Amino acid sequence: MLLDRFQRNITYLRVSVTDRCNFRCVYCMPAQGIPRRSHEEILTYEEIAEFVRLAVSQGIRRVRLTGGEPLVRKNLVDLVRMLTGIPGIEDLSLTTNAFLLEEYAAPLSQAGLKRVNISLDTRDATRFSRITRGGSFEKVWRGILAAEAAGLAPIKLNVVVVRGMNDDEIIDLARLTLTHPWHVRFIEVMPFGNQQDWGNGFPPYPQRYFSVQEMRTALEPLQLQPVSSTNHNGPAQEYQIPGASGRVGFISPLGEHFCDKCNRIRLTADGRLRPCLLMDTEVPIREAMRSGEELLPILQQAIDLKPEGHELDELKFPEKRKMADIGG
Ligand code: SAM
Ligand code: SF4
Repeated sequence: MLLDRFQRNITYLRVSVTDRCNFRCVYCMPAQGIPRRSHEEILTYEEIAEFVRLAVSQGIRRVRLTGGEPLVRKNLVDLVRMLTGIPGIEDLSLTTNAFLLEEYAAPLSQAGLKRVNISLDTRDATRFSRITRGGSFEKVWRGILAAEAAGLAPIKLNVVVVRGMNDDEIIDLARLTLTHPWHVRFIEVMPFGNQQDWGNGFPPYPQRYFSVQEMRTALEPLQLQPVSSTNHNGPAQEYQIPGASGRVGFISPLGEHFCDKCNRIRLTADGRLRPCLLMDTEVPIREAMRSGEELLPILQQAIDLKPEGHELDELKFPEKRKMADIGG
């Protein structure tokens, strides 16, 4: 078991496989992108698999691949195949913007991937292109349908809600659960390397935050009913529109934060363990891997550095990396 100082059992590893992305979502990346890392700085698939094997032998049960955009890294299907071969992983999943999913959904499923989380902040193609700075809604939609056809389930759609960007669309997005057995999860925007002007008519920084309480109020006309459910993190509160096959959920890192239940650790694409998404502390592990050092003490050190909770309330924001560089 990997216990931290606050007796939280760390069972969930998020692995960023690349810091590159084919979108430039306004809340995640600057318009010009982030400086590219050299090939040598990025962990190879063999190195990622070696670390995952160690982490799973110590008690990690869930692994999520993320990015940047994981599907822009060449041969991601090979990594999925390598990881599904590791005994002890109970859940291997992928977070993607779905732009390339039309092509990869079937091979990923054949390689053993069970499910995907997909970012989708709007159903309006023009708005989609503005938010992602050039992404194609039609292609992403085809990617979502391809994931469904490939049996990747349940499909979870992540919606980052920003005032003045898509807060008027919450009902419309939740109504997708009436026609599809999808989970639509509304996420509070985190003030994370994104406080600059987004251009293109987006509201300025102090006005963007739209709280989970406001989301719940906006959804009142749908008469959401609580449904009890257990996800891999334990009990989770989800909701259903009466008669819907899908579910609605909320992720509130700020308004109703879940630090006391945090069971995660992150591995960045350049080989650093990050104990908390919302703090800059990291522990490098890449060079230790490459020189054949023992990795378990480094993993334990990173877990020991997990804070009791983030400090956003005290206006302490992570500054050294952008979200796309960590993987959410
Ligand atoms: N490119 C993939 C995608 O978009 O799904 C995976 C990486 S992305 C960084 C992972 C998740 O982080 C996405 O669901 C995205 O919407 C979310 N995200 C990015 N920036 C965020 C922010 N500032 N606040 C809240 N969520 C954010
Ligand atoms: Fe890329 Fe995902 Fe960030 Fe959008 S949210 S810029 S798709 S990493």
